[in-house]
Amino acid sequence: MTTDPPIRVRGLAKSYGPVEVLRGVDFDVARGSVFALLGANGAGKTTTVRILATLLRADAGTATVNGFDVATRAAGVRESISLTGQFAAVDDILSGQENLVLVARLRHLDDPGAVADDLLARFSLTDAAERRVSTYSGGMRRRLDIAMSLVGDPPVIFLDEPTAGLDPEGRVEVWRTVEELAEHGTTVLLTTQYLEEAERLADLIAILHEGRIIAHGTLTDLRRLFPPPTTEYVEKQPTLEDVFLAIVGGAKERG
Ligand code: ATP
Repeated sequence: MTTDPPIRVRGLAKSYGPVEVLRGVDFDVARGSVFALLGANGAGKTTTVRILATLLRADAGTATVNGFDVATRAAGVRESISLTGQFAAVDDILSGQENLVLVARLRHLDDPGAVADDLLARFSLTDAAERRVSTYSGGMRRRLDIAMSLVGDPPVIFLDEPTAGLDPEGRVEVWRTVEELAEHGTTVLLTTQYLEEAERLADLIAILHEGRIIAHGTLTDLRRLFPPPTTEYVEKQPTLEDVFLAIVGGAKERG
């Protein structure tokens, strides 16, 4: 194990034709932390994750995941990560248990049944284990999807907009799952456009805007960037939404 951060990104750039999506993105993610990459639709969050997951090549810059360079040591990266997106990889006609056993077999694990049972318990799916996934709620499916990505215990997990399209109840269910991951020491890079989600889950938040990280830090750090209240009689902490709008608005004025 190295002392380097499990995710290190320097000067990452990517264009699609004439459209510059990433224009020099830098960040580190510390081991065992939850890092939220926050940005509006089209900000380049998925592009960043796809580069880190070796699914896409950057035009410039470097990135290492678990000590492996994404451009030159893709196999090492792939063995270290799992990627869960908005489009669940679960098979509807199988039960939750069968889905997990299938992945455990594909990964040549010793006791696929035990691996499945353990993950079902961790993600509160034991009662639904034998049911076909087609009968699951959106939140349950997403939880199963995240559980499937943990088979084999990858040290780094990418969650690309894990709660997109879920109702509030499903969202809370998935949040609990992410908190559970963090408690287990997995390093999590989460992309989201929901400020509340970043606020609740992340140790560190980076705001991706117009191809660059325009602010990053803990929620407390980001709050410091926000002008203090002046005329209010009751002093109120700014929410992450206030901070986000102030920073993004400021960047627009400067740009
Ligand atoms: P969302 O929240 O909508 O998923 P995002 O922050 O993940 O947004 P990306 O999916 O990384 O954003 O896309 C960034 C920009 O690049 C968008 O304007 C998108 O239309 C464009 N884009 C993404 N993939 C391609 C592609 N293969 N070819 C051309 N343009 C692309």
